[in-house]
Amino acid sequence: MLGGTAEARALAAALAERGVPFVSSLAGRVSNPALPVGEVRVGGFGGADGLARYLRDDRITHVVDATHPFAATITANAAAACTEVPLVVLRRLGWTERPGDQWRRVPTIEAAAARVAGAAPGSVFLTTGRRDLAAFADDNTHHYLVRTVDPPAGPTPARMTLLLDRGPYTLEGELALMREQDVHLLVTKDSGGPLTVAKLDAARELELPVIVVDRPPLPSGVNAVASVEAVLSQLGLG
Ligand code: NAP
Repeated sequence: MLGGTAEARALAAALAERGVPFVSSLAGRVSNPALPVGEVRVGGFGGADGLARYLRDDRITHVVDATHPFAATITANAAAACTEVPLVVLRRLGWTERPGDQWRRVPTIEAAAARVAGAAPGSVFLTTGRRDLAAFADDNTHHYLVRTVDPPAGPTPARMTLLLDRGPYTLEGELALMREQDVHLLVTKDSGGPLTVAKLDAARELELPVIVVDRPPLPSGVNAVASVEAVLSQLGLG
């Protein structure tokens, strides 16, 4: 199981409960990851060829890609590597706009940065992750409230308040933070799921505009299911 998400951890628990042998794989990106139950390996495979070799060497019979919706490279690698074994892709549903929301959807992080650059001066709450900060680094007009799990390694916006934190977040907490930091604009990926949705509820309540970065497309020919139950059913374990 390619993991690194809450769904992957839920699936690991479900497989363990059923006595199914499995190994979870993490990229090793964050310093103190939430670990699933069961066996875990950490680190890249060395591209699609490396993953294919790993699957052969370890006699893996089924692959579940339960990685984050924005982890497009590993999903493409899984699709390319799984020629001999079945692949089930688990993608939680994206978020949908509700009455009162002021969302602007954009296709890429660069498009989000261009939108922010054209926005009125003010404070921008940037929640797209530490590896996407470079796109905003040339903007000297806006102040950025940046929230990441681990400290950024590359270029960052010049005017930045950094908040190291990890969800889940509450509506009360997000409202307090956004009021205290006088946030004018929220930027988020369409990650979906309940753990980080509170910022969108808070933005609605505060009548703030939101820039939502759309998910990268799945590789052609790959279909995803949206729940742990659906994965179990595809594996014949439902
Ligand atoms: P990515 O861009 O799709 O993958 C980059 C490389 O990292 C892959 O080519 C692979 O290296 C390695 N990799 C990624 N996921 C792996 C896994 N589960 N096990 C082993 N190697 C993995 O991925 P990413 O966006 O950096 O995300 C890395 C991990 O963090 C993912 O597992 C994802 O579920 C989790 N995550 C990502 C986000 C996000 O916003 N992107 C948010 C929360 C959690 P090799 O080519 O060497 O095999």
